Amino acid sequence: TIPQLLAQTAARLPDHPAAVFTRQAIRWTYRDFEREVDRLAAGLLTLGIEKGDRVGIWAPNCAEWLLTQFATARIGAILVCINPAYRLSELEYALNKVGCAALVMAPRHKSSDYVAMLTELMPELANATPGACQAARVPMLRHVIVTGDAPPAGTTGFDALCAAGSGVSVETLDQISNDLSPQDAINIQFTSGTTGSPKGACLTHHNIVNNAHFVTQTMQFTEADRLCIPVPFYHCFGMVMGTLGCVSKGATMVIPGEGFDARTTLEAVTREKCTALYGVPTMFVNALELADFDAFDLSSLRTGIMAGAPCPIEVMRQVQARMHMHGVTIAYGMTETSPVSFQSNVDDPLEKRVSSVGRIHPHVEVKIVDATGNTVKTGEQGELLTRGYSVMLGYWEDDAQTAASIDAQGWMHTGDLARLDADGFCTITGRLKDMILRGGENIYPREIEEFLYTHPDILQAQVFGIPDHKLGEAVCAWIVARAGSDLTETDVQDFCRSAIAHFKVPAYVSFKDELPMTVTGKPQKFVMRDRMVKELG
Ligand code: ATP
Ligand code: MG
Repeated sequence: TIPQLLAQTAARLPDHPAAVFTRQAIRWTYRDFEREVDRLAAGLLTLGIEKGDRVGIWAPNCAEWLLTQFATARIGAILVCINPAYRLSELEYALNKVGCAALVMAPRHKSSDYVAMLTELMPELANATPGACQAARVPMLRHVIVTGDAPPAGTTGFDALCAAGSGVSVETLDQISNDLSPQDAINIQFTSGTTGSPKGACLTHHNIVNNAHFVTQTMQFTEADRLCIPVPFYHCFGMVMGTLGCVSKGATMVIPGEGFDARTTLEAVTREKCTALYGVPTMFVNALELADFDAFDLSSLRTGIMAGAPCPIEVMRQVQARMHMHGVTIAYGMTETSPVSFQSNVDDPLEKRVSSVGRIHPHVEVKIVDATGNTVKTGEQGELLTRGYSVMLGYWEDDAQTAASIDAQGWMHTGDLARLDADGFCTITGRLKDMILRGGENIYPREIEEFLYTHPDILQAQVFGIPDHKLGEAVCAWIVARAGSDLTETDVQDFCRSAIAHFKVPAYVSFKDELPMTVTGKPQKFVMRDRMVKELG
């Protein structure tokens, strides 16, 4: 279980640095970290939070987020990760969807005033004593815990809650932890919402403790590693592969700021001598684009993970050459599988690491099937299915959707298209949902995107299909061009015509300043598609 894992590491390495939050100027050893976790866990107990209760967390990356992750696990409460970019109606939806009994939140994040949204959601708070609020819009929610100096009326201050648990002994906490089973649900994570509404995946200790172990083992992590985590905690990349992965090996987590900012991240790597860095491809692109990139000393970096979306080959080359990440690994996974299923090894040949997502993780099975469910021949494309310890319990209280994703034999249908070569290296070729069907031809956006990225003036490119009355679908490209470039629609089409089949040449090319992204930095093609259809009238 998660509490056993933290207890083991803290007993082995009590004085070793566990976490550094650069913005909050916090440095914890594993002993400090364990003590802070216990203070919060005790506070939650005094509120009456019990095993199985859902506790939401709505905050950017911060020390309180990390404590909430481990304190809920300590007493068997189920942590519900709420996207920091959510607004009022989405927050209300998430809290009600899984029936949160408590919510831990920051007072604000960037330009969003979380407290103002809370007041609108729960006007009853103004006249309630903390813990005794009955709010009409979120009837299950009993406690709101707010970080910072001035918790609003009717809420509990985070620091005050930690102090309130002083009467609870470590033995009491240990007793509760010892009664937990690895198969208990411990975390509900929402998927990124890349293809539609986010789904709540319910995961166990066993799911995520093991995945954190194998992810960091593949990177050959030890306690000497210092991992920079600019990816959001709210997502499995941050909280399983990141924070839990560090605890798994006794490594140090370095958290630069509240969210991804290229400069803050490179500053943290330089100052804290990080050995590893996590990111999605767009984050690495932004970092490499910094005008003063060469001013940062990244020589301490050795490895890291690039995941979540396909990485253009050119970006990978630059990350290796300019960021010293020669052992950078590519990982593939999904929230529903805890998350990682495939990962390259630090010493896999470069050409394998740029062209594939590596090989299947230990203790996970894989098969690739055609539309009728038959396994395809080696090297052929089909839908990727995985099975093993890492498959979620299911979507929270949604048996129909769970049954549509996990079949009777336990295979998770990923919705991703992939190929396996004879050595077991897997290449993700796109999503089933994104495949464009134009006049009877199957078109895979990824292939066109890879080609567009070879144009020197193209910074980002996304290809998707839009409805077309003659052909079924037409190919459309959204492009972010390099500053100062005078690239036109015709230039892009001519460039494509020189090298790819005519039916794949985008019929529409539109230039944008930025692309719609999920908070995890994934381009949302369904949003682009809707907007493009509107633009074209
Ligand atoms: P939703 O399910 O809500 O539409 P999502 O699938 O993006 O969103 P996640 O669970 O965060 O939500 O992401 C998993 C998906 O990300 C995978 O199914 C795959 O499509 C994509 N993905 C993950 N890693 C990689 C990778 N290394 N290369 C290509 N695609 C990847
Ligand atoms: Mg998905």
